[in-house]
Amino acid sequence: MAFETALAKPSMNRTERRNQEKQYNKRSYNQLVQAYPAIDFKTYFSEIKLSKFDSLIVSQPAFFEALNQLLTTQSLESIKAYLNWNVMNTSAGYLNSALEKQNFYFYSTVLTGTTEQKPLWKRGIAAANSIVGELLGQLFVEKTFTPESKKRVNAMVDDIVAAFKVRINGLTWMSNETKEKALIKLASFNRKFGYPDKWKDYSKLEIKDDSYLANQYRASEFGFQDMINNLGKPIDRGRWGMLPQTVNAYYSPTLNEIVFPAAIMQPPFFDADADDAVNYGSIGAVIGHELTHGFDDQGAKYGADGNLKSWWTEEDKKLFEGKTKVLVNQFNNYYVSDSLHINGELTLGENIADLGGLTIAFEAYQMRLKKNPGEVINGFTPEQRFFIGFAQIWKNNVRPEALRQLILTDPHSPGEFRVLGTLSNMPQFYQAFGIKEGDKMYRKTEDRANIW
Ligand SMILES: [Zn+2]
Repeated sequence: MAFETALAKPSMNRTERRNQEKQYNKRSYNQLVQAYPAIDFKTYFSEIKLSKFDSLIVSQPAFFEALNQLLTTQSLESIKAYLNWNVMNTSAGYLNSALEKQNFYFYSTVLTGTTEQKPLWKRGIAAANSIVGELLGQLFVEKTFTPESKKRVNAMVDDIVAAFKVRINGLTWMSNETKEKALIKLASFNRKFGYPDKWKDYSKLEIKDDSYLANQYRASEFGFQDMINNLGKPIDRGRWGMLPQTVNAYYSPTLNEIVFPAAIMQPPFFDADADDAVNYGSIGAVIGHELTHGFDDQGAKYGADGNLKSWWTEEDKKLFEGKTKVLVNQFNNYYVSDSLHINGELTLGENIADLGGLTIAFEAYQMRLKKNPGEVINGFTPEQRFFIGFAQIWKNNVRPEALRQLILTDPHSPGEFRVLGTLSNMPQFYQAFGIKEGDKMYRKTEDRANIW
């Protein structure tokens, strides 16, 4: 425990770890070896069969300084205990059921409040998913994915990119010089839908009937090797960072691409039978959200080519940072109990993406309405249903323990505040529902964030 705590103290916290510039510390191989002499890098790299490289990025130098010092001051006994503990802790879930239950009790019951383990068949699927996920993905795609959904979602991306362009051109706070660069970046986004063009090759992964633990070890070795094999090769732009069966989407700043796995192209995110208002408020907002990540407090530091290089004028950068502060303050003031506040800095990138994404999706929907007028359904106007569509995708149930963990560690705000926080900043929402001073979601004009 003392060893672990000594390593944790100099480590960056989650908010600091979002800062890409702080983590970009390039060192030559020789610099690395000389800076931390107590760490036997030569043996380490040779053991993991990684011998040839000139330089690498040390994301947390303070951590390595602390480790270097600990290795010279701690007793051999304590180092051994720490390593033994790590082997036990990472293997516990794959050992006998008494250990598996203890592992579940700590990580799920104590930390997230879950009282009951999932049935064995679900745990079996989860294990296969984490080891050979793209094999399961092929089965999933065969059953659920239709080229028609891909076509419709792709057309929505076109609409939302067009709306983003209108928004950027209309920004009153940004100079033409920066706008021009922003538009170049927007035009260069790559898109991926559904599943990878080329599936991962698992033929080198050996699965045997010796033991579950041994299979898990071989799987981690395979995963590690799969990652290391990319070294020194041209960037593989076809690679996916999520599985097709994962209900999620992402933006990669280094590849400047947005990726939508097959599983998010189904209700409640995308409903082929729903009208435009609902789909623009749900999958439209998600598309806008991912695009906005390219322009959030961290994504905006990357250029169109995916390199960490500023394209902002100093003046615009300052104005942008000032605008993001409003959002930081707003979310710092949301809380679930006296001692548990949302961390406005940690969640800033996601909150910028939520606000920008929904604003752009709304703009795109207004453009769509001109071609395809909406109608009142069940007493709600098209604009009202757009916002209801957004609120629907974030409804969830969370236990207090899990909520606590999420607030401390997740860069996303809890679902409830993604809705309340985003909508209460949008004049379009005030107009759609006739919100006025004194209403619960009313915020004074000067307290409302407005960035993209
Ligand atoms: Zn996001």
